Amino acid sequence: MQELSHYINGQHVKGTSGRFADVMNPATGEVQAKVPLATVAELNDAVAKAEEAQKAWGATNPQRRARVMMKFGQLINEHMDELAELVSCEHGKTLPDGRGDVQRGLEVVEVCMGGPSLLKGEFTDDGGPGIDLYSMRQPLGVVAGITPFNFPAMIPLWKMAPALTCGNAMILKPSERCPSTSLRLAELLTEAGLPDGVLQIINGDKEVVDAILDNETVQAVGFVGSTPIAQYIYGRAATNGKRAQCFGGAKNHMIIMPDADVEKAADALVGAGYGAAGERCMAISVAVPVGKETADRLIKSLTPRVEKLKVGPYTAGDDVDFGPVITAASKARIEGLVNSGVDQGAKLVVDGRGFKMQGYEDGFFVGPSLFDDVTPDMDIYKEEIFGPVLSTVRAETYEDALNLVIDNPYGNGTAIYTADGDTARDFAHRVNVGMVGINFPIPVPLSYHTFGGWKKSAFGDLNQYGPDAFRFYTKTKTVTARWFSGIKDGGEFNFKAMD
Ligand code: NAD
Repeated sequence: MQELSHYINGQHVKGTSGRFADVMNPATGEVQAKVPLATVAELNDAVAKAEEAQKAWGATNPQRRARVMMKFGQLINEHMDELAELVSCEHGKTLPDGRGDVQRGLEVVEVCMGGPSLLKGEFTDDGGPGIDLYSMRQPLGVVAGITPFNFPAMIPLWKMAPALTCGNAMILKPSERCPSTSLRLAELLTEAGLPDGVLQIINGDKEVVDAILDNETVQAVGFVGSTPIAQYIYGRAATNGKRAQCFGGAKNHMIIMPDADVEKAADALVGAGYGAAGERCMAISVAVPVGKETADRLIKSLTPRVEKLKVGPYTAGDDVDFGPVITAASKARIEGLVNSGVDQGAKLVVDGRGFKMQGYEDGFFVGPSLFDDVTPDMDIYKEEIFGPVLSTVRAETYEDALNLVIDNPYGNGTAIYTADGDTARDFAHRVNVGMVGINFPIPVPLSYHTFGGWKKSAFGDLNQYGPDAFRFYTKTKTVTARWFSGIKDGGEFNFKAMD
């Protein structure tokens, strides 16, 4: 049994708490490693070391810091297959999807290679007579990242790359279910020239998260995970005077207008609803066809596509559409929600319950389910299922569909399929959701834009990556300067004795 470690001051360090969490292989249901759960003392020690290391790193000029990112990006590319496999073997997603996970993180590293241009300050010449104003962006010091299981490479990279480029030291607490990719990324950063102690990986659970939130040296917390935990972390971090951005769960709707290409919409829904077993915060979990005819056509197009989806382990290669879910508890929860949908009167068009994978009977596989006639009072509509389940809520008009999205408490992503630019434009303008797709199912913005939801999908200010990340991980200092008349106006140049 492999025993994982923490990564402190450029080295793997064994846990001392005696407490461990099981890292599962979701395809086989077997424990494949044990990850140590850090104590408060271990966390405080890692933070103290990071604080020391940050002094020189923060004083290193931005271009040199960016060069570490250049080398890091090169190393990620060289180790792409290895990193993708690390992602897939702990998460269960297919290898191409594992590669996508690394790639979308790498793209943030690429933006950080040009980080100095985002760190430039502002200058006002002659804001008053002989008065100049300038502002500079300075690192916060030691910051923390706390990340979820579902993107073991991408989200840690979204946190660490901008935070480090800005001159901070980072304490990263990855998900205890998928910790190995972060540990490997930390090794690659050391190889890329990051000084020891500037990135500390500390593994653990609530105990260490609370210790991060209460540690006075930690200046900022970037969290990604479920909404209740995001809200909790935001509250405790803010109470302790920290800057916090906490991204939560989602319930993403796709509206399909009567003029949409229904075949294209069905293809998009299958990928966005069932890819990665629905374990994406940007998964589409609700389809909203407008009008009876659109709904009937959509269900007719979707049904064979969903029935044909191939579920299997990542090791089965390209033949698999999605893998198992993360834990046995998650499988039980998803199947329980499907049961509740049936009990509450939704029409189960494709039933993924009780799916067994031959040769992998103990794996956490869940077959794809498709619901029609879902209503907003049902649990399958209200809950974030985070599994391979797509619900169809029929809307009579565009306004009804739009209001459904507006009234939903989550606001991470949404999409509309239509051939009409006017409708699409109206939707993008009026909807209260952070990321919008027009004929585009999973609108994760490119790395030089920013990523963030609205409503209960995000607490705090400023989005992840892009220019916002550079604002989040720096504080602004503004200097107002005046120089009294000096030597150019006839200062005294002769050496004089004191009177
Ligand atoms: P989670 O909230 O269970 O865990 C996230 C992190 O919080 C982990 O590091 C975990 O160790 C820690 N944690 C868990 N319980 C805690 C507690 N009681 N106190 C303190 N810390 C705790 O989330 P998850 O299951 O790992 O990830 C799935 C969730 O993340 C989904 O809700 C998904 O929508 C969301 N997510 C959101 C985004 C986004 O950008 N909005 C991106 C990816 C995932």
